[in-house]
Amino acid sequence: MESLSASERRERLKRLFERSRGCTRCALHQTRTQVVFGAGNADAELMFVGEAPGFNEDRQGLPFVGQAGRLLERLLGEIGMARGDVFIANVLMCRPPDNRDPHPHEIEACEGYLREKIALIEPAVICTLGNFATKLLRGEPTGISRLHGREEVRVIGLRAVRLYPLYHPAAALYHPTTLERLREDFLRIPELLELGAPPQPEPCAGPLPEPAGSTGRPPAPGGTGERRSAVQLGLF
Ligand code: URA
Repeated sequence: MESLSASERRERLKRLFERSRGCTRCALHQTRTQVVFGAGNADAELMFVGEAPGFNEDRQGLPFVGQAGRLLERLLGEIGMARGDVFIANVLMCRPPDNRDPHPHEIEACEGYLREKIALIEPAVICTLGNFATKLLRGEPTGISRLHGREEVRVIGLRAVRLYPLYHPAAALYHPTTLERLREDFLRIPELLELGAPPQPEPCAGPLPEPAGSTGRPPAPGGTGERRSAVQLGLF
């Protein structure tokens, strides 16, 4: 499967961003200040998917800029990374009123945008933060407390990625044990990045291979764990 060049990736993400700004696919467009598309490095090997923008994100148009975002940044710092190394998106691009849970039809309305972002960024590792992102990208109802810290290879769109569910940082803000688990799980991210992208499915007409457990696999051909060049999407 051909990877996009850095400039092509960036251009296509910009076009998707422009398209998403005027989205009216669900009623949240009536109450949002703006669409929170996602932000970070378009060439990131590591992507985070959270739940939905909150008050601060809705005002600033950027994901994870409140308290949960500061914790996310701190945890990234502890593994030697920064926001600029990763791409951060959410299941929903618009804030649900009063920060209520996303409704199923809102998730469905926004899902195509998220999948397109994933397809364009081509991350090796996706950390789902909390239940909503984990259930959506795994396509199963198993909850985060059973899944956190267990990486698996999943085919998302046409590509295999290492999916790594984590507790949502907001849940860790007031629960020391959750924070401890989240921190422990974070410490394994560099190891997963080192493995690189998992082996990719053959681009053929047949059924996609079963997702397989990934622990201990050698790096995929071409997936040496080397970071791609950093192309920052400053405007997001
Ligand atoms: N929580 C999320 O899930 N996403 C954000 O952007 C902020 C808080």
